[in-house]
Amino acid sequence: PLVAQRIAAGEVIDRPASVIRELLDNALDAGAKTLVASVTDGGLETIKLIDDGEGIAKEDLPLLCESHATSKVHDLEDLFHIQSMGFRGEALYSIAAVSTVTIASSYLGQDAYQITVDNGSKGQVQPGGPREGTTVRVEGLFKELPARRQFLKRPSTEATMCRYVLQEKALAFPERAFRFITDGKVRVDLPATTKKQRVLDVLAISQNIVPSEMLELYDSAGRFNLYAVCSSPALYRSDRSHIKIFVNNRPVEEFALVQAVTYGYGEMLHGGAFPYCYLFIDVDPTLVDFNIHPTKREVKLRNKAEIHHQVVEMISSQVRRTIP
Ligand code: ADP
Ligand code: MG
Repeated sequence: PLVAQRIAAGEVIDRPASVIRELLDNALDAGAKTLVASVTDGGLETIKLIDDGEGIAKEDLPLLCESHATSKVHDLEDLFHIQSMGFRGEALYSIAAVSTVTIASSYLGQDAYQITVDNGSKGQVQPGGPREGTTVRVEGLFKELPARRQFLKRPSTEATMCRYVLQEKALAFPERAFRFITDGKVRVDLPATTKKQRVLDVLAISQNIVPSEMLELYDSAGRFNLYAVCSSPALYRSDRSHIKIFVNNRPVEEFALVQAVTYGYGEMLHGGAFPYCYLFIDVDPTLVDFNIHPTKREVKLRNKAEIHHQVVEMISSQVRRTIP
């Protein structure tokens, strides 16, 4: 592949977990109800995602791994109304530049076809693949880029990062089922459920939390809705690691909003104690901009001050009400 292709790839795909993130986003955008991700050797040997989404048409297969190939944005105007998880059309392209990718798919239940792209060089479309949905298999990630491989952690650590990414997606999409398999062992099995139960199920993977300790909060104002699954003040942690913010289903790093959550609890929690809080903000897509970084973890909210205020208000009033 061209040098430019590999440089572009570096921005988005830096480790197996970023591959998993992009593959999950694509499956979600394709309307998949069940997403099964598996990795072997921490994702260095294989990363696979099986979905039951609408699939990819045979004639689209050769186009997928080309730069800016996307079916999700048709004109500039669309960029201001992003509803899908993907929109840049560079994920598969970037992944295919640094690994061997096989995409096999049945479009709306028709006969399946597949294509393999080996470190940027495209093979022929051939018959064969799943009976429904799409299966993407990524092999030998960074095999031709030893310098990149060198920055990776141990396989078990990389596998854990992949699992976290899947759990994070699962939190935002509770109505879909997710599984994560490492070296043949099922590590995460999350059936479709409600938003609150999904938070509890994900927490149950690593901690023992009683449902009654978690509260559901709701609020809405004008052009946004807030929903949170938060701990009662009796259940707290000594760090902020379980304050997670999602904007339009994307996990975001937004310290101001993390602070809004802690302000909301105020003196209900003593110093050094932090709540568990999974906060989901749904904003009118014209008021948010994710398009500032390829990994989309940053967000620009046009009505941030208003949202911040409402989060503090919702938490302080609704959590307080539950204290006996
Ligand atoms: P983007 O998601 O930004 O459009 P990608 O490179 O991630 O770009 O994917 C390119 C295109 O490939 C998508 O727009 C979509 O049309 C198609 N695609 C990728 N993965 C899947 C999938 N699992 N199911 C259906 N279509 C897919
Ligand atoms: Mg995508």
